[in-house]
Amino acid sequence: MSYIAVKGTHDIYGDEADGYSYIQNVFRAIAELYGYRGIETPILEYTNLFERSTGESSDVVRKEMYTFLDKGERSVTLRPEGTAGVVRSIIEHKLYATSDLPLKVYYTGPVFRYERPQLGRYRQFLQAGVECVGEDSPYLDAECICLAMQTFSMLGFKNLKLKVNTLGDAETRKKYRDALQEFFASKIDDMCDDCKQRLKLNPMRILDCKVPEDQERVKDAPKMKDYLSPEAEERFYKTLSIINDMGIEYEIDDNLVRGLDYYGHIVFEVHALSDAGKDYGALAGGGHYDGMLSTLGGPSEYDSGVGFGLGVERLYSMMKDNGLLNDVAHKLDIYLMPIGESVLDECYELLENIRLIGYSAIMPFKTAKLGSMFKKAERSGAKFALIIGDEELEKGVAQLKNLATKQQKEVHLATLDEELDAAFAEIEEHEEGCDCPQCQEKNEQKAE
Ligand code: AMP
Repeated sequence: MSYIAVKGTHDIYGDEADGYSYIQNVFRAIAELYGYRGIETPILEYTNLFERSTGESSDVVRKEMYTFLDKGERSVTLRPEGTAGVVRSIIEHKLYATSDLPLKVYYTGPVFRYERPQLGRYRQFLQAGVECVGEDSPYLDAECICLAMQTFSMLGFKNLKLKVNTLGDAETRKKYRDALQEFFASKIDDMCDDCKQRLKLNPMRILDCKVPEDQERVKDAPKMKDYLSPEAEERFYKTLSIINDMGIEYEIDDNLVRGLDYYGHIVFEVHALSDAGKDYGALAGGGHYDGMLSTLGGPSEYDSGVGFGLGVERLYSMMKDNGLLNDVAHKLDIYLMPIGESVLDECYELLENIRLIGYSAIMPFKTAKLGSMFKKAERSGAKFALIIGDEELEKGVAQLKNLATKQQKEVHLATLDEELDAAFAEIEEHEEGCDCPQCQEKNEQKAE
């Protein structure tokens, strides 16, 4: 009997785990720059939360949720997206009444969708997202888009494509749905079963259909922009002018409707292009939502919100393909090498002290030949080896070897913190002043 990960899930370890941490750390740092604070909500929620907010007409709710009865016969669901849980939490704790508005929160965590697993598509994947709730302004919508774009550019993406569309206000969407229903009525018999359902539940979803023949039929469908109320139109172009003033380029995509039911006004997706112009698909998607708080029993005066979610798996694989993760794998600072059993106790004490100073360090706890320890030190990626035998201990010194340059010098254990600080500062200076290809690459990355 062998055990394997559940279909569509995956383990994250080694360089990949370092990459995921890096992406999440950059995302958190940028979100905090924009005044967002962290929030963690449970992965498990009562099923009706998603039915009510994410929407019964969305593919996610109709087909993709991991829903089951718990031992108390309550229907619970592994969250398929982040927004519903966050909004539920805001209402449950009346955060709109006890905090200044808008409430700005960010989260990272796993979400679950029963989709067909394929490249870049998992059943458990990691999303990072923000929600800004309780105040309505095109500036907040634009700011949210800037935050998303800023995150990607901090991660090193250069060729980004921002696709935007408006889903208008409630009046616009009503008129537009009617127009779509009329347009597709004569075509629907030849369309896929999903589209037949969509026509009844929410015809805007048809625009999102991935079946090639249906996509052809969608091309001539009425466009949302022709049904916008004057207010919704003004709102859309105001938001676009703000992001335009921030130097962000965008492309209006009439068929961008997003998969979830709660959106209104501006919706967006960020795509990344490879140097060869290849579109990797959506890295992040989001938009403005109205009515979500009141739909879930909260007060309607705080109903407006805007947010986005990005998929860490997709981001990671694109960054890896484009060489944007070359320098983010966790590097060890020091590999401590005890020469002989007799120095193990002292070396272990020293190891803990080095960690307290703030340098990452490991050592082997079994004695080994110097050559084999050097091989392990190099494999560990450590910057320095610190070598200590009986003779060194007696003199209160150690040999500090730079594993890249192979230069070695004696350091005093009594002043080890200063000696290590100086040695690491030297590496930094070396990189800055050096014109070898590796150092130049690092310097360019730092400068960016
Ligand atoms: P959505 O909540 O559908 O707007 O998705 C937001 C982001 O999550 C997308 O832009 C993708 O990067 C990512 N994503 C969505 N579905 C999956 C999936 N099944 N596997 C991996 N990433 C996904």
